[in-house]
Amino acid sequence: MTTNALMPTYARLPVTFVKGEGAILWDNEGKSYLDALAGIAVCNIGHARREVAEAICEQAHTLVHTSNLYNIPNQAALGEKLCALSGMEQVFIANSGAEANEAAIKLARFYGNQKGVALPTIVVMSNAFHGRTLATVTATGNPKAQAGFAPLVQGFIRVEYGNADAVAALDDPNIVAVLVEPIQGEGGIRIPDADYLPRLRALCDERGWLLMLDEIQAGLCRTGKWFAFQHSGIKPDVMTLAKALGNGMPIGACLVAGKATGLFGPGNHGSTFGGNPLACRAALTVLEVMEREQLAERAVEMGDYLLAGFKTSLAEVKGVKAIRGKGLMLGIELERECGELVKQALAQGLLINVTAGNVIRLLPPLVLSKAQADQIITTVTGLVTAFK
Ligand SMILES: *Cc1c(COP(=O)(O)O)cnc(C)c1O
Repeated sequence: MTTNALMPTYARLPVTFVKGEGAILWDNEGKSYLDALAGIAVCNIGHARREVAEAICEQAHTLVHTSNLYNIPNQAALGEKLCALSGMEQVFIANSGAEANEAAIKLARFYGNQKGVALPTIVVMSNAFHGRTLATVTATGNPKAQAGFAPLVQGFIRVEYGNADAVAALDDPNIVAVLVEPIQGEGGIRIPDADYLPRLRALCDERGWLLMLDEIQAGLCRTGKWFAFQHSGIKPDVMTLAKALGNGMPIGACLVAGKATGLFGPGNHGSTFGGNPLACRAALTVLEVMEREQLAERAVEMGDYLLAGFKTSLAEVKGVKAIRGKGLMLGIELERECGELVKQALAQGLLINVTAGNVIRLLPPLVLSKAQADQIITTVTGLVTAFK
């Protein structure tokens, strides 16, 4: 059903899904689709997971919401679990990715103001995506997302993504933090060199800046580790999560360690819904399933399989510029804009996405089967081959 009652903020595809299971969705005419996008890296453990459905149901029948005026055991348990998995020390629970990043941005400013910095400034990257609130859209490196929203928020400096020298060259006493995605998602599945994060870590240590990693898309087993920073042997001062944390239940988190720990006290930040018993119960269940089913390992296995498959199947195909991936975060960059492939894939029962204009983005559920991976390779290869 379409309606004029909604602000037309999304260019929606003409399809209506009514049911899901694992990596499959069904539309309102009974047609099935293989989902190679997972609601943009959200449904990592598959659609309509029984464990999450049961946990949500039970919690909804018991207690949905109280308030952060009181203790919330599920929130405390989720905080402990996230710290144990990441090595971070404290967590603030929010409702979305943008809100988790807002917490990180406020934290960096708080840190800077405590140090007596005149205009606390955060270094952000070209092609970054951090959300749609005013501060996070300012941090986002996409002029289209920012167009029409002047005046944007002050206190950000942008440099080229993947270029640690560009960060090293900055000489501004107002800088207090670097905010960066370990792998850029919306920006086109850009994977920086292996020494990028270690070099940013060293620079931040040297200069007393906070290293803030936006793991909202890359985190939670997608790249083959619980968190993408764990590939590089460093630890951030601040990390943000959202997308897959609730497998579709809205929840986000801002985690801190080291010099970012203990900054916020009572009254410094808050949220009415953030960390309520229902959302935290869903997230706890998601983490349990990821752990029990070893979905990080599965992401490596299936990601390597897809990457190798595409490198073979697309080897001789004209117009393919690059094929890259880490775990189940994959991008196929074409030489020209290819947005129309999304509709063509949909017609063939496959959900994909095109980002940055010319990059086919694949973010399937981590529970994908080999047969489903083969179907993705066959369909995408066919579409790219026919794309002239
Ligand atoms: C999706 C995303 C966000 C924004 O999350 P919302 O929940 O849509 O606010 C921020 N950063 C990254 C890297 C993302 O992929």
